[in-house]
Amino acid sequence: MTDKAEPPKANISLFSVVMVLITVVLSVIALFMGFATYKSQDPSAQIYMLIGFIGLAISAYLLLQTKRRTLREAFEMPQVVTTILCQKCGFKNIRDFERGDYIFKETEPCPKCSDNMMITSIYREVKEKEK
Ligand SMILES: [Zn+2]
Repeated sequence: MTDKAEPPKANISLFSVVMVLITVVLSVIALFMGFATYKSQDPSAQIYMLIGFIGLAISAYLLLQTKRRTLREAFEMPQVVTTILCQKCGFKNIRDFERGDYIFKETEPCPKCSDNMMITSIYREVKEKEK
């Protein structure tokens, strides 16, 4: 393999990280308010604590979702390859799958005969364990 190593894409978007952080901060504040007003027999203390716990649960859920998605993307992305074949001279080129690739799509001209080449197969490269 001589293809250049691309830097790993940051799959966790800044937006979701900020969302989780805001939720955590608000939850902690709500919990703190709940504890602070707890002694004063204020009924709003229970509401604050409820909001705090719900907020923490939501942020934990969001965090899990983000983690699961990045794991899946990291697992699947590098394994799909596209085979491009020249119908005229039989020149074959294999490269990583790119967004927008589909079978029978005409791609760049052939380096040998400059006829249009065509994508003939897209498949996932699986490293099979030999028995
Ligand atoms: Zn050709």
